[in-house]
Amino acid sequence: MKSRWFIIFTIIVLITVNIFSDSNEGLELNEESGKLKQIAGNWFLNTGEDIIKLSLAPKEFLKEIKLELSSQMELTVKGSSIEDEFVVYSLEIAESEYQLREETGDTLWEVKPYKVIAEKCIGCRLCVPACPQNAITMVDGIAVIDADKCDGDGICKNGDDKNYKGCPVDAIEQKE
Ligand code: SF4
Repeated sequence: MKSRWFIIFTIIVLITVNIFSDSNEGLELNEESGKLKQIAGNWFLNTGEDIIKLSLAPKEFLKEIKLELSSQMELTVKGSSIEDEFVVYSLEIAESEYQLREETGDTLWEVKPYKVIAEKCIGCRLCVPACPQNAITMVDGIAVIDADKCDGDGICKNGDDKNYKGCPVDAIEQKE
């Protein structure tokens, strides 16, 4: 009788260990190919059937790995669709492959979120629509950046190379 309970207990332990080891494996990644297009500071991939918003990496990191993107560039991205974005883990352009994230989804750059210096903010709201991560909201007339959403790209502070020229009163800084 005792040995039967021991066998049942062992089976339960093995099943539990198996479930937890499976959950630690990386996500299954999808692949999409198409032409790149930049709209208002955001990158999109036109696959011919769909236009997908891409979540890439901060400009500084792209520069560091010598990845220069331009509209109409043909590329293949590997990643995972999360909400309305395609989070890019790696991309391939011609024969070159660029890695942006680990298989676990961890970024290969250190995320240093930005914050608003409340005393300096004049409440102009210009940074709110400029943030590609929708990380900025107005609270009591002052901009507030959600550090969990911020990917450290610095567009709120420095501008988006398009219409937004960055915070006009230099009220945004990167956390140490
Ligand atoms: S752009 Fe600068 S001043 Fe304007 S709301 Fe954002 S942080 Fe405040």
